Amino acid sequence: ATARWSRSTLLFLSRQSWLKDRATRVRSLRRLSRRFVAGETQEEALAAAKQLNARGLWASFDHLNEAVRDAEETREEVREYVRLLARIDEAGAQANVSLKLTQCGLLLDRALALENARAVVAEARARGSFVRVDMEHGAVTQATLDLVRQLHAEHGESHVGAVLQSCLRRTEADARALCAERVRIRLCKGAYLEGPDIAFPDKRDVDACFVRCMKVLLDSGVYHGIATHDERMLEATLEHAERRHLPRDAFELQMLHGIREDLQQQLVDQGYRVRIYVPYGRHWYPYLMRRMAERPANLAFVLRHLSRG
Ligand code: FAD
Repeated sequence: ATARWSRSTLLFLSRQSWLKDRATRVRSLRRLSRRFVAGETQEEALAAAKQLNARGLWASFDHLNEAVRDAEETREEVREYVRLLARIDEAGAQANVSLKLTQCGLLLDRALALENARAVVAEARARGSFVRVDMEHGAVTQATLDLVRQLHAEHGESHVGAVLQSCLRRTEADARALCAERVRIRLCKGAYLEGPDIAFPDKRDVDACFVRCMKVLLDSGVYHGIATHDERMLEATLEHAERRHLPRDAFELQMLHGIREDLQQQLVDQGYRVRIYVPYGRHWYPYLMRRMAERPANLAFVLRHLSRG
């Protein structure tokens, strides 16, 4: 119960934009953010990916900026991603991009978000790359899947894909539907605060749903990503793949920058495809707080440092 309360508090704080400026000034939090975020610039993110590639790991970049204020700021995000895709291509990096629809303006104007996301996917297609559309809080799940379906219809499975969260009650049905439509999925547990009406309050149910969805994904014949650091989820995944005689390149495992690097390397060394999510940018506050919420014992640390800022 304490862990759940701490998680909720951290996730509540992650959404308080007034805290963002304060937090980014606190040196100890900035230092901590560097564990989870590759840096503030594209150069730093590319350098991090280069190091990952040298160790046999692939990357997916995320330019952090969830709180865009106007249409011009969303267009700046598109320019950032277009530049990023060009630099990945020129560097020959093993990397693709992850994009949030709120950063394309989903909460401002849906048509604008579609237009922006479409521009990024078109650039990815022109460069033979791929855009993973991250999944955000429950209020935008349906809108996000609608837009991904539209982009998938326009550009095909090789250039755009979705994310599903096993914490949501709807996810197993979404997984079956999207697999039937041949949409590539990243399966994760879900990092946002959701009510019991739409999400499983009990972690055991979230994990059970993860395993059921993982099986739907691996049995579909579509190329998916299984995103977790949970050794039990990973074990279940590798066991299922083995039982189905799937080759090791039929799917990829995905983890976050700065978390369980030992496990990342171990899996690559065993011949699995492992892709690391590499976030970068100045707006790291909500991302850092979601990572803190995954370790509820972090609450006291965060509160102590925020109050000093
Ligand atoms: P957990 O049960 O939370 O953790 C299992 C173990 O992993 C822990 O015991 C610990 O050893 C380690 N661990 C996990 N988190 C941390 C941490 N912060 N610090 C230190 N150790 C940790 N969520 C979304 O809602 N939308 C997305 O689009 C999305 N994209 C993601 C992309 C990738 C590649 C990954 C790996 C995760 C993504 N997530 C996303 C986050 C995800 O939903 C979970 O919040 C996160 O992965 C933690 O869940 P877990 O599966 O690792 O299991």
